[in-house]
Amino acid sequence: MKDSPLEAVIGLEVHVQLDTGRKLFCADSTAFGAPPNTAVCPVCLGLPGALPVLDPGAVDLALRAALALDCTIHPISIFARKNYFYPDLPKGYQISQFERPLATRGAVELDGGRRVRIRRVHMEEDAGKSLHDRFASATAIDLNRTGTPLIEIVSEPDLRSPGEARSYLQLLKRLMEYLEVSDCNMEEGSLRVDANVSLRKKGSERLEASTEVKNLNSFSAVEKALGVEIGRQTRIRAEGRAVTRQTLLWDAAGGDVRVMRDKEDSQDYRYFPDPDLPPLVLSAARVASLRAGLGELPRAKRERFRRQYELPAYDADVLTSSRGLADYYEAIVACGRQPKTVSNWVMGPVLETVKRGIADLSSPGLAPGRLAELLVLVDKGTLSATAAKTVLAGMARSGDPPGAIVLREGLTQVREDQVLDRWVTEAVAAHPEAVTRYRAGETRLFGFLMGQVMRASGRKADPRRVRQLLRAALDADAD
Ligand code: ADP
Ligand code: MG
Repeated sequence: MKDSPLEAVIGLEVHVQLDTGRKLFCADSTAFGAPPNTAVCPVCLGLPGALPVLDPGAVDLALRAALALDCTIHPISIFARKNYFYPDLPKGYQISQFERPLATRGAVELDGGRRVRIRRVHMEEDAGKSLHDRFASATAIDLNRTGTPLIEIVSEPDLRSPGEARSYLQLLKRLMEYLEVSDCNMEEGSLRVDANVSLRKKGSERLEASTEVKNLNSFSAVEKALGVEIGRQTRIRAEGRAVTRQTLLWDAAGGDVRVMRDKEDSQDYRYFPDPDLPPLVLSAARVASLRAGLGELPRAKRERFRRQYELPAYDADVLTSSRGLADYYEAIVACGRQPKTVSNWVMGPVLETVKRGIADLSSPGLAPGRLAELLVLVDKGTLSATAAKTVLAGMARSGDPPGAIVLREGLTQVREDQVLDRWVTEAVAAHPEAVTRYRAGETRLFGFLMGQVMRASGRKADPRRVRQLLRAALDADAD
């Protein structure tokens, strides 16, 4: 679109699953991957006489999200029935907030500083799932998802490119993960996107007819689908035709959009307040206490990490991806360790240990004080970095302090010249050919010989000193 006088106008509707572990109006589990149709009860099925009861935990998470998105919270919101027929919706309606949503008029700021307004954040329940790929010719229905708590975050049409839509989604995902509102696992459907897009003359304020691509479940799908749809609309306009309001489906395999239905004949959902559910009334005190509990939001924290600890943007990003990780990092730095060193250790070996499931950040062996002790041993030269990684693994597994592991496993770094010299001499004697070639100018063989010395020492030699001694040995006998 670079040379085109048209610009893209994009607004996103994002569904985020609330991490309460249970359904919105009954206590059934929402655990992913349960055998089909095992987490259903009369309430999710809408059987006569079953009474939905709103989960206050879901409301708190929804409020946290809305507050972090800078929305106005409404003291009264209403759950309505959105009526439509679909095989995976046994009740015949979905409970959602319509005319009176939980929150409206928020905003977020993208990294480049662009502001994206949030139109509304409302709560709703999910429908079931139709499975088209399990049986050759039949569609199967899994109702476990029915009643799963969601929020829908609706943006104003403030985004101007597929890339910007992606940045916005990344920001939302990060925020929701950080606030522990949702795990945002897109493969499991915890974050789904409907993307609305239209084109207009650059500089125009008018909104043209838009199309909506439904149910995108990855960032790249959003970006690609928008790109393809912008291309399609551009061609339609170039031919002098008008874009019509349509709902589209993204065909990931074919890399194309397919028309699902025309919006002109879009259905009337006959919304009305759910007679089984009273209006949701929020006290000012509840909202205020949730607001106070938000604490420092990820963006502010990331900026502070960059400034206060002089960290590269990448480090600050990773370390502030969750509140737990950020607190963990700061606790180690507070023990007096150098911020960038701590960052390297946390982002590398510590997170690796956590990812491999050996321990987590709250395990005693990885306690911030313990990590700080380990880094002191490295700073003092007692441990080489390699040995320190071995000690860290031991700490994670056993929960013992680093000092005890160093003693037990004899990992103290050897720095006495006498001992180091012996290993150097051995290595030089054992590899005469490499030594000759090194002296003839093949300097890269230094690394090989260095490796031999370290190996001979069982990786306990102080590499800095070995380097000096080896170089001296090789150069001394050269002439
Ligand atoms: P509804 O679905 O209730 O009719 P809208 O279609 O106005 O509401 O808004 C749904 C989403 O579509 C919002 O995220 C909004 O920003 C976006 N949107 C609305 N109009 C346009 C437009 N002309 N171009 C692109 N996106 C739009
Ligand atoms: Mg819509």
